[in-house]
Amino acid sequence: MDSFNFAGKKAFVRVDFNVPLDENFHITDDTRIRAAVPTLKKILKDGGSVIIGSHLGRPKGATDKFSLSHILPRVAELLGVDVQFADDCIGAETEAKAAALRPGEALLLENLRFYAEEEGKPRGLAEDATEEEIAAAKKAVKESQKEFTKKLASYADVYVNDAFGTAHRAHASTALIADHFDAAHKLFGYLLQNEITAVEKVMKDTERPFTAIMGGSKVSSKIEIIRNLLDKVDNLILAGGMTYTFAKAFDGKIGDSIVENDKLDLARELVEMAKTKGVNLVLATDAKIADSFSNDANTNFASVKEIPDGWEGLDIGPDAEKLFTEVIKNSKTILWNGPVGVFEFDNFDKGSRAVSNAIVEATQKGAFSLVGGGDSVACVNKFGHADQVSYVSTGGGALLEMIEGKVLPGIKAIRGY
Ligand code: AMP
Repeated sequence: MDSFNFAGKKAFVRVDFNVPLDENFHITDDTRIRAAVPTLKKILKDGGSVIIGSHLGRPKGATDKFSLSHILPRVAELLGVDVQFADDCIGAETEAKAAALRPGEALLLENLRFYAEEEGKPRGLAEDATEEEIAAAKKAVKESQKEFTKKLASYADVYVNDAFGTAHRAHASTALIADHFDAAHKLFGYLLQNEITAVEKVMKDTERPFTAIMGGSKVSSKIEIIRNLLDKVDNLILAGGMTYTFAKAFDGKIGDSIVENDKLDLARELVEMAKTKGVNLVLATDAKIADSFSNDANTNFASVKEIPDGWEGLDIGPDAEKLFTEVIKNSKTILWNGPVGVFEFDNFDKGSRAVSNAIVEATQKGAFSLVGGGDSVACVNKFGHADQVSYVSTGGGALLEMIEGKVLPGIKAIRGY
């Protein structure tokens, strides 16, 4: 971005303006719009013009509920320029609007997902559609997707992807469009570049010891990440709800704690894998237990293997807190995904707060810390630590897939790997 001079150029910028709206279509959190502002402003300041493309929600066709017109005023306000709107992302009128853009001008396109071609998935198939009909519909949408992609590409001289949230999708505007531009005319926006740099600092240019803290409710949703991390980390702290699947797998009494009974073998397998690979696997030893899933429940402390019936573990206990924070404070690279307890309840957020504090302390001593995945971001925000860790990722699925070791289509489309 810094070395590209956009003067006199039109840029198609794919952003992620998929912001939450209330029932009156007011934006309740504009973080994602603000995250793309530096890229858009740089292009406009250079004397380029921008054609902004995004999705909003998961529409099944064109509908006012998911119209990007609702966010137009906020986009204009944040960019500090008048922003035009194209109420269809393709078509003759939109082509004319894009063609007429002058240096420093911006055009926001209507929701790209109003067209099935954006995702390349057929819509409106009858429930009793035969396999042949489904295959034919898939083929047809893939075919028309090429035309759709070509039209989007035709508006601009250069393609910029700044949508990390959708970088793991091979959609028309997030990946396929890049084929219409040569290597010198497709680039990452600042946000996407920052995300890639942060993840690669953790996963590739790792300073050791490297500690990953994986929390959240279930082990099943994190299996691939845990497997990949076992090849990379020195310490792996597994916490949150999955604690009890591990405790039960090793004959613990877990009371009414959350458990995945079909993952007990997996838990044993992961413990074995950690041993074989020489990874220090750290599991909670004790828990703060509650007699109901509520902030006002009666509480007590117990070993994770001796939880009485009628009680469930909702946070780590003081022993585990000490164990976790000691490991974290001595780390040089830290990845945190998922709270270690039900942090949404103030009476069960102490463990997550202690983890967050330890990460801040390690960061102050020079460690690189990456926090990502919806709930951990909510966590650092709750504790006021967002600007005291090295990087807070804006990506959910995209971040997790990168940590799993997958090559993201949106990234590959631009840099080739
Ligand atoms: P995930 O979406 O899998 O990352 O899970 C995040 C959720 O896990 C948060 O909403 C936490 O409240 C929840 N969680 C963390 N620890 C526990 C626990 N011990 N029991 C039940 N839920 C938990």
